[in-house]
Amino acid sequence: MKKAFKVIISVFMSLVLSFMLVSSGFATEAQACECDKAPVIFVNGIGGMIYSTDENGEEYSIFPIETETMVSKILTYLPPAVINGIFGGWDSFAVSLDKMVTELFIGMDCDNEGNSVLPAYADECDPATMNEHLDDNEFNFLYDWRLDPYESAAKLDAYIDEIIEATGHEKVIINAYSEGGEIALAYFDAYGSEKVEMFISQCSAFQGLTLIGKLFTNDCSVDANQLANFLGTMMPAANVDDGVTTFLKVLKYTGIYHLLTAVVNKVLDECFDTIYNGFAKDVFACMPGVFNFVPAEYFDDAIDMVFGDDPEYAVLVEKLTRYHNAQVNAEKILKAEQEKGMAVAVVSHYGCYPLPLVGDMSYQSDALIDSANSSGGATFAPMGQPFGSDYKQEVSDGHNHIAPDGSVDASTCMFPESTWFVSGFSHWCYSTNLIEWLEAYDGQPTVTSNPEFPQFLVGNPADNTVSAMK
Ligand SMILES: [Zn+2]
Ligand SMILES: [Zn+2]
Repeated sequence: MKKAFKVIISVFMSLVLSFMLVSSGFATEAQACECDKAPVIFVNGIGGMIYSTDENGEEYSIFPIETETMVSKILTYLPPAVINGIFGGWDSFAVSLDKMVTELFIGMDCDNEGNSVLPAYADECDPATMNEHLDDNEFNFLYDWRLDPYESAAKLDAYIDEIIEATGHEKVIINAYSEGGEIALAYFDAYGSEKVEMFISQCSAFQGLTLIGKLFTNDCSVDANQLANFLGTMMPAANVDDGVTTFLKVLKYTGIYHLLTAVVNKVLDECFDTIYNGFAKDVFACMPGVFNFVPAEYFDDAIDMVFGDDPEYAVLVEKLTRYHNAQVNAEKILKAEQEKGMAVAVVSHYGCYPLPLVGDMSYQSDALIDSANSSGGATFAPMGQPFGSDYKQEVSDGHNHIAPDGSVDASTCMFPESTWFVSGFSHWCYSTNLIEWLEAYDGQPTVTSNPEFPQFLVGNPADNTVSAMK
């Protein structure tokens, strides 16, 4: 009886096993996709949700900070700050303000090695399934934007593997936006492009931004005219309603801007060191994902200024230096992958004044990132001062790479044949029709592949489309 039972069990087990093998064989076959659309992975910018769990095991968001927490902390710390300011002068105001800001951001803190102090995790990525591929074919890769981009790149690599496995496609398209460009560059540096058919870089921060360079080298100030200029171009570009624009004009012409900026500058002047040490340094500089926004030319000064020779930060500085090297060698890294067959398409927005903290409103930006950086080195005329008729293209390669509006010379950028410029689009606009065309393109698209999408385009913020610049 016992023996018979054993036989039955083993027959049953073998049946189960062979069924599993067969069905997994079926599964793989059924999952190989026949379509010619490579799965697209959208690597988003800074600002994705980050969670932690409290002592009762309840999930809560450490970013964005929950409204209740924010309100209660501001109510606790702001009144004493003001009172201290009135009776104790700027120093005690600064100390109280710093305490409030530190309390506000405490959940987001990273330690001296650039790791989250609290156990934290980002929002979940879209499921790597065939349905997701057949549905809208855009997989959102979400990550903890505070951390070392190489850590996020490792997660991206695992996610790509899952998508390849689920769809049967051999390669994916990486569409990176803003900080996503930093993650993508770290990815190509560490893993190459074996699994990537096309890299689309949109308003990407892979070369950093002046604003962060200035912030970490203690060189920020606010100018009323800059603020007015910035808001004046920003609002139409962001398609904000007319009411707000009118309100801003009122602020400008009544001189309230000047008053406002005078107050901010006074605060910056009087409290900068305290706020800077507590806030910029302790909160943001220890986030590698944020510090890596420092452009190459500010890097040494920023490291000196923020970390000095403090051995406590050695591990963090090493992480930051690794990305800095990739940033400096970006052209080499990307061109090596292009030679192996990966298509590269860069999209850069310009024609917006930069945030009014940088003390220089002449350079072209998408209101946040310098267009020279997001385009990988194009030459721009100062805002509102197009090149003269005697301007000569920097690098002559037999094509015209100067914009019809006289503001851009694309001949100096890393990929002059596959970089597109959108005038009048802020960082938060999206070139829907251009991106769709790029994603569907087989091979390396260039600025002459489609007359609808020449190198220089004008953005329409109302519907997030672009058209050829005349
Ligand atoms: Zn497919
Ligand atoms: Zn050319």
